[in-house]
Amino acid sequence: MSRILIVEDEVAIADIERDYLELSEYEVVTENNGQKGLERALAEDFDLVILDIMLPDVDGFEICRRLREKKEMPILMVSAKKDDIDKIRGLGLGADDYITKPFSPSELVARVKAHLARYERLAGGAGPKNSVIEIRGLKIDKTARRVFINGVEKQFTTKEFDLLTFLASNPNHVYSKEELFKEIWNMESMGDIATVTVHIKKIREKVEEDTSNPQYIETIWGVGYRFKL
Ligand code: CA
Repeated sequence: MSRILIVEDEVAIADIERDYLELSEYEVVTENNGQKGLERALAEDFDLVILDIMLPDVDGFEICRRLREKKEMPILMVSAKKDDIDKIRGLGLGADDYITKPFSPSELVARVKAHLARYERLAGGAGPKNSVIEIRGLKIDKTARRVFINGVEKQFTTKEFDLLTFLASNPNHVYSKEELFKEIWNMESMGDIATVTVHIKKIREKVEEDTSNPQYIETIWGVGYRFKL
């Protein structure tokens, strides 16, 4: 059973979120204070965190930033203000999704389900046997989330890593930018699929010897991208 932490100071909202998630068979823990929420998220294992932004003691921005230094689980940020959503994106805090209040509880549950499913796939839910991908000089350690090219480690952002790992885990399959955006960003209504192009470019700069003649991620003109096996 997946464990979810809700950090939300409005008790009525936290209760509704918890009730709906429990109906969907999740184990839910709530904290109504930012400092306590942060301590708990760091001390215990959760599969997903739902994080309000305006919180007593420590706000959601700071909690997200601190969690990302140590933890990989999906973080869904919740805010009453559209401005906050822009701020989260601008700060690059590593949140996986953003929901504006008021939202319907069923929408929240749907997003939680989608993120947990995606995280399980990306985290190598197939077991330790498949936790390392090695293709020519490229080595991806899915569990440790590290990437090496000819033995030299390269630094990847969360989304770059997710995108590369997804493509390398499904070689020879052509994905459209829309499909990749949906798979990795999981926000159909927000954002821009040009993000995919930008991330592919950044990945190529790290893994390819000659970015004009890519050996790993091929561009299939008019369709999308394919990882060459
Ligand atoms: Ca609040």
